[in-house]
Amino acid sequence: MNSHDYFAKAQTIIPGGVNSPVRACHNVDSEPLFIASGKGAHITDVEGREYIDFILSWGPMLLGHSHPEVTLAIQQAAAKGTSYGAPCPAEVTLAEMVIAALPSVEMVRMVNSGTEATMSALRLARAVTKRNKFVKGVGCYHGHADPFLAAAGSGLATFSIPGTPGVPDAVVADTLLAPYNDLAAMQALFAAQGEEIAAIIVEPVAANMGLVLPKAGYLQGLRDLCDQYGALLIFDEVITGFRAAYGGAQARFGISPDLTTFGKIIGGGLPVGAFGGKQQYMRRIAPQGDVYQAGTLSGNPLAMAAGIATLSILQTSDYAALEGRVAAFAAELAAVLRAKQVPVQMPTLASMFCPYFSEEPVTCFADVHKADAALFTTFYKQMRQQGIFLAPSAFETGMVSFAHTEEDFTRTLEAAQQVRF
Ligand SMILES: *Cc1c(COP(=O)(O)O)cnc(C)c1O
Repeated sequence: MNSHDYFAKAQTIIPGGVNSPVRACHNVDSEPLFIASGKGAHITDVEGREYIDFILSWGPMLLGHSHPEVTLAIQQAAAKGTSYGAPCPAEVTLAEMVIAALPSVEMVRMVNSGTEATMSALRLARAVTKRNKFVKGVGCYHGHADPFLAAAGSGLATFSIPGTPGVPDAVVADTLLAPYNDLAAMQALFAAQGEEIAAIIVEPVAANMGLVLPKAGYLQGLRDLCDQYGALLIFDEVITGFRAAYGGAQARFGISPDLTTFGKIIGGGLPVGAFGGKQQYMRRIAPQGDVYQAGTLSGNPLAMAAGIATLSILQTSDYAALEGRVAAFAAELAAVLRAKQVPVQMPTLASMFCPYFSEEPVTCFADVHKADAALFTTFYKQMRQQGIFLAPSAFETGMVSFAHTEEDFTRTLEAAQQVRF
């Protein structure tokens, strides 16, 4: 069976044929590839075609696919049993590694996904502050727990409506929205309701609406507001943790949040999330404290082994060198595209790059939507035909791994040369 056959069959038994929506490739007028294997920077589909992968499972595979040391760690752990429902030493090791990497994190709780991490961090912030409202940045993604699935309603930035059927109005009534990078809007929200706000949750670098970097002073402004009003600052570092820098975006920008959420890279490709922060807050989590949070498979030895192996290698990986290579590659890609008379913005940060087909720099969600999605679809399809696997949406960031070689970049640029708009 080829990808089309698998997709046809999958659509009859899995909603939309996929287990997470964007994989269906609707945004780019395509069908998904069904993947048979991945090695380093490359993946191979069920038809045996190889692609240079710039999705990397949406972030986790910073070391590339099936890194030998990570694979060995998983195999060795699996041979000893995959879950005990009782503590195991690897949980302590991974917790120590996370705490050592981020000074703001003094205690950490493992969960199974980024969604669980943000959901639990919000619950904790609400319990600590005895307040219900919280603010999220418009265009930031914090997983699919109900309180985060709010869309901006008409009129005021502060008015939110459910972003999907199935979420009651009441559940998002306490979700306040402020455009990412708009400190004045955030200040206005706090001036009006600051005494009722439990937390700001934000992606310190917005990497779920393409790639939007924080404006100078934005993150510090959020920190100051939280301090002034007694709210908690939650950095959702599910993407940026161990990617923006080993110590996350908070190390890079020098801001210390109260709570941090993790996922993706800390699981080394297995399902993991985590949340952590200052002891005074984390001590409130059950059973030390009264805030309930639990998970049958949380901290299982298999996922812990993958995370430990991944972070061990990342500790000595040259982030600066990769960042320099990605910046050079992205600049060349932008030049190749601009030579074709299409408008291009190409923000980069660390090992992320994002082609927006737009005349103007992209600083917020509204700017993101000024980009030309049709041009992106043309680009996506022709790149894929030439063996380049980009995220199937104009609003997703490109991911690069330590396994990507100069040859991978050269082949990608050659493919871009061939694209006709
Ligand atoms: C991916 C992501 C999540 C959700 O993580 P899942 O493991 O998919 O539940 C939350 N926040 C951010 C910033 C993410 O990128």
